Amino acid sequence: MIDKNGRSIEYLRISITDRCNLRCVYCMAEEGVHAIGHAEILRFEEILRLVRIMTGLGLKHLRITGGEPMARIGCLDLVKQLHEVPGVSSISMTSNGILLKDRIREAKSAGLSSLNISIDSLNPETYARLTRGGGVSEALCTLDQALEAGLNVKVNAVPIRGYNEEELAALAELARRDRLCVRFIELMPIGCGKDLERIPCAEVMERLENAFGKPVPDTQVYGRGPARYVKYPGFKGAVGFISAVSHEFCRTCNRVRLTADGQLKLCLNHTKGLDLRAMLRGGADDDEIRDAVRAAIADKPERHAFYEAVCDHEMRWMNEIGG
Ligand code: SAM
Ligand code: SF4
Repeated sequence: MIDKNGRSIEYLRISITDRCNLRCVYCMAEEGVHAIGHAEILRFEEILRLVRIMTGLGLKHLRITGGEPMARIGCLDLVKQLHEVPGVSSISMTSNGILLKDRIREAKSAGLSSLNISIDSLNPETYARLTRGGGVSEALCTLDQALEAGLNVKVNAVPIRGYNEEELAALAELARRDRLCVRFIELMPIGCGKDLERIPCAEVMERLENAFGKPVPDTQVYGRGPARYVKYPGFKGAVGFISAVSHEFCRTCNRVRLTADGQLKLCLNHTKGLDLRAMLRGGADDDEIRDAVRAAIADKPERHAFYEAVCDHEMRWMNEIGG
């Protein structure tokens, strides 16, 4: 589907829960979140129905996210059922990896083709501080298992002043020994992210250049996202940078999001969307839902509005939206 700004929208991120086994400082408050009630969360059959409708509009690449997607019971069953929907061409997952430990083979046979695993530090103490109690060895074990199983793997890391700024080179080194991508994502001013200091991508690049030498741009396409990739001398894999708060990535944005409570979000930072749960539960038929989705996507906002004074700002937190 092409939107009013000529962008081809073919990527659907599906958040299946707002809950999580961790409490990352930039994402969730220590005491957790005001969790969405069970009845408000889309049931798997509702998600499947929406995906069947949306593949008809050309949305063919799916990403399962959350909260922590593996924190919802039956997550891999859902992956399997989504994989069987005609028109779905790829399924990926964004996860902190901990609950995926020893379940990678199962995930792969269910139809998962790639994994984005969030690891913000390799140092057990920093990782525990950042995640408020998580164990990095489990996440790293899942990372190894995913590589061994042949999944496409990306490591996501959010650089944060006062937490992991001295460990960015160590994280990037993961791409030296293995053919994976390490991506540095600029902290977004959403939820708890508002109270922390962002380390801009330019600074991360400078630190990495000091550590590894001058990189060359990597023009190979790694996924469908907004990252710019480079390769450092001697590295097998690539390092990517996502400057989420600049507008660069809006021009080529190819995605929409389905939140756990059934809202179709057209842009990460706009509340404007479509209440698909109300349509599903209000008795709308497939054609009505398809027409409403088509109209909503056609009208996708041109760009996000982080840091702008007048906007229809997103007040939700990242664990609700799914990143
Ligand atoms: N729990 C899974 C995980 O951590 O990968 C999936 C959901 S999480 C919300 C998705 C991604 O959003 C993670 O890579 C996380 O680092 C990122 N994220 C969360 N809050 C953020 C913020 N304020 N700014 C930038 N990235 C953020
Ligand atoms: Fe959980 Fe992911 Fe948010 Fe961390 S970033 S608290 S792992 S949802």
